[in-house]
Amino acid sequence: MTTPPALHRQLDVRACPPPLLGSCARCHRPAHRFGEGGNPLCPACREHVEAAGRR
Ligand SMILES: [Zn+2]
Repeated sequence: MTTPPALHRQLDVRACPPPLLGSCARCHRPAHRFGEGGNPLCPACREHVEAAGRR
């Protein structure tokens, strides 16, 4: 059994397979939306939303 190469490294849109890419729900820039580690928001927007939610 072989382990897949570094799937859990830091998110990098350029390293993300195109089928997993989509535009961010907030800023519409390309982001890793689907699959493992995917999120409808890009990291920048996620940070913004999390910061706003903490208030
Ligand atoms: Zn965004």
